[in-house]
Amino acid sequence: MENRGLPKDSDFDLMSEPSQRSHYIYMDHHATTPVDPRVLREMLPYFTERYGNPAGRNHAFGLEAEEAVEAARGRLAHLIGARTKEIIFTSGATESDNLAIRGVASFYEGKGDHIITSAVEHKAVLDTCKELERKGARITILPVDRDGLVDPEQVRNAITDRTILISIIFANNEIGTIQLVEKIGRIAAEKEVFFHTDATQAVGKIPVDVDFMHMDLLSFSAHKMYGPKGVGALFVRARNPRVRLHPILYGGGHERGLRSGTLNVPGIVGFGMACLIAEEVMEEEGERLLHLRTRLRNTLFRELDQVYLNGPWTGRLQGNLNLSFAQVAGESLLTGLRGIAVSSGSACTSAIPEPSYVLQAIGVPEDLARSSIRFGLGRFNTREEVDIVADEVIRAVRSLREMSSPYEPVTKTA
Ligand SMILES: *Cc1c(COP(=O)(O)O)cnc(C)c1O
Repeated sequence: MENRGLPKDSDFDLMSEPSQRSHYIYMDHHATTPVDPRVLREMLPYFTERYGNPAGRNHAFGLEAEEAVEAARGRLAHLIGARTKEIIFTSGATESDNLAIRGVASFYEGKGDHIITSAVEHKAVLDTCKELERKGARITILPVDRDGLVDPEQVRNAITDRTILISIIFANNEIGTIQLVEKIGRIAAEKEVFFHTDATQAVGKIPVDVDFMHMDLLSFSAHKMYGPKGVGALFVRARNPRVRLHPILYGGGHERGLRSGTLNVPGIVGFGMACLIAEEVMEEEGERLLHLRTRLRNTLFRELDQVYLNGPWTGRLQGNLNLSFAQVAGESLLTGLRGIAVSSGSACTSAIPEPSYVLQAIGVPEDLARSSIRFGLGRFNTREEVDIVADEVIRAVRSLREMSSPYEPVTKTA
């Protein structure tokens, strides 16, 4: 019979180590992460045995699913210092950002129409704000300094009596900059303006505490922290102050009416386990990643000249390294790298790659923005992999520079 791609039972090897499955070295953990095998193991029964709908409480299947969802909710809440009922499950951080910003803007329409955000937000925040602006809201996009930091005093000065929300990213997905969120939160609380943060890159990597940091809304996502794709959460403060918002999806009134739709039970269970693991390993993993990042930077800086660090060295996510390589044509850099998965500083959504708006916001010249590499180190990367990646980048940069040298004179920088 013709094989149309239907798998046989023997094809399944669900528990294999993610990093061993391909000969590629994966160093793009800001884009997504592999599911931790412990997370997958926790999820599996919820596909095949415990498949109840948590909204259907009139039999054991539903109750079992509901219990699992509530246990996961508790794990998420614990990781960020929230109360269990303050967690709303969504399909990911994009939805959480939309729900937070559009939900607050709509509910508090009568109170004000001004939102403060920054130039280095994820598109899920920036494009949502731009859409609201099109509909008449006023948006202030604050600039950042060379490290990618928002000045909290500029946040204070931007607040008017029409301001209803401040939305500032916790840790940047391109250059890893960790914002002074606690200071911004204190200003927001003092001025009685809600503070939302997109903490997708921060949760599970660095300590997050919504009370200490005065956060009113916080978005995060499972697939950036070794959980599955398609599940995220929004923290919505329940008291001191209570945040109210309008939903963006209407239906059965799930999630306290804020997000209708049958819950992604296996995904949520996996998200819960990812949070439990993160709490356990965060400190040690952070130290290990910082060590690997330092090794990678040191090797590249030793072997190559005209390499520039984008973003700060401290106050940065441990697994993030973003470098620009001068005298290399941006388009050829990524394609010239063999066997390693990293990202570049240009979005290849069009024929001509656009240099990253985040790198432009911190003042990186266009050509250097184009010839940048974002390394995103993660849980399963080893020291050996770091050395292979370093060797490959050195080889590629040297060979590209040799190729271009007859045509492009090397500009001497003083
Ligand atoms: C990945 C990411 C998002 C989008 O998350 P999804 O769950 O993929 O929708 C939003 N913000 C930041 C900072 C991210 O890194």
